Amino acid sequence: MGSGSHYFSHRSCYVNFGEHLQNHWNVNLFYPGAPNRWTLEDWRRFLAMLEAFGFNCFEYWLTPTLYDRPALDGGGTCAEFAATLRAVTDAAHALGLQTKLLCAPNTIGPEWFFACPNEAEGMDLIARLWRRWMRALSGTDIVGIFPGDPGGCNRNGCTHETFVDLALRLAEVTKRENPAARVEIGTWGTPFSGWGADLRETPGWDGSWAQVIDPKHATPEAPAHIWNGKPARAQAAMEYLLKRLPEFPDDSLVSINLGFSPDGDATMGGDARGWAREVARIRPITTWDYSLDEGELVNYPHWRLPRMSAHRREERAAAPYIGGMSYTMTPKLNLLTLYAAGRFFADPDADPDLVSREFCAQVFGEEHAAIGELFEAFEVVPGWGHYPRRQWSKEMLVAKYRELGERLEAADTSRCSLPLFPDPETYRQDLLWFARRFHEMAGANPDRERIRREYWAKSLAIYDAIPMSADPRAEAAARQFSQILV
Ligand SMILES: [Zn+2]
Repeated sequence: MGSGSHYFSHRSCYVNFGEHLQNHWNVNLFYPGAPNRWTLEDWRRFLAMLEAFGFNCFEYWLTPTLYDRPALDGGGTCAEFAATLRAVTDAAHALGLQTKLLCAPNTIGPEWFFACPNEAEGMDLIARLWRRWMRALSGTDIVGIFPGDPGGCNRNGCTHETFVDLALRLAEVTKRENPAARVEIGTWGTPFSGWGADLRETPGWDGSWAQVIDPKHATPEAPAHIWNGKPARAQAAMEYLLKRLPEFPDDSLVSINLGFSPDGDATMGGDARGWAREVARIRPITTWDYSLDEGELVNYPHWRLPRMSAHRREERAAAPYIGGMSYTMTPKLNLLTLYAAGRFFADPDADPDLVSREFCAQVFGEEHAAIGELFEAFEVVPGWGHYPRRQWSKEMLVAKYRELGERLEAADTSRCSLPLFPDPETYRQDLLWFARRFHEMAGANPDRERIRREYWAKSLAIYDAIPMSADPRAEAAARQFSQILV
């Protein structure tokens, strides 16, 4: 699994450990004294699992909490984060993996302030922070210059062109501080999320996150603060990127999805396939299909395998993509998804049901390969990127969850042949926890308030010890979990 021929040469696993996505199955890298810290040994086991599953890159977000003035002084949490990620990068390299950091260069601090590159003070802060972090994380193999979400600007005349100009300048800084690094220019939504007309007009906007997401500025044309660019806007942005792209370092990459919407569809900014082919004539392209494997906030064992393999086949047909990315905010829970993502990079034609059974046979024993089929019954939670293959009646779900629970109780993980992180027994217990609660919620008279409290304690208790994020959606996640199948 770790070697052999792969269709896609760049196979990245992105763990989003952002401020708003902290949970029991994620890693806490910037709240000392709070739960969910990983030791270096934990990291080694996680990276070894990725390598065994066929990934060759570990990707992470240099979150706004770290990308702030205290980093310039080099102390405290920022220094600790830098030391940890340097050790993680060394551990990744020892396994033959690369590391990639993503940063939205104008999104500053835990309050997510959007600095303006057209203001001298804003540009100075961006440049100093970028240089500081490029130096501190100079072993990183790929540096993703990400437009936003959060991030971007439309103050002081900033447009989609501002992002490209800024990316050019920061690519130069990156190459100076870390000559071996490849730059990846992100296009994300519209494209160039948050820049210029993609960002909602907010009268008198001071650059604060709180003000830009204030629903009082919502209009029928711009219901959300980003994702407001139409295909004509995407065309203008892509034409400008194509014009400037030859000025980027020769080994730069561009991430561009099949479509300029949150799900890679041809809505909002439209169909991106033609642009992907144009970009690929100048620099290699990858996808960054965020919601393909997993959504945000409500954590559960995902099963999006048919859609995952379908996207890989579409990418293969559409443009000369060299790879893509699998995102997770639950790296210690969604192990089947990670396994399958690795399989589909290697073979986009692999059968999702067989891949699912194959994984479960290796983890729970050949006699419980059927757990691989039962997993699909978990994929019933509406949310970002949720496109279920089939509809289930509640009666059918009750039966499926019961069988799943029985099989998980009976399974012996001591002969697991995959190098899982966490250990297979912890994984089995977590799946059982979900199977029992889904079983109750599909049945008659579930105690949803008790389930809400249990989910908070299991998944989100870290927020009892850390500040709620500038994006406070985690607060609603426990309630949303308790309303599954309502
Ligand atoms: Zn601006």
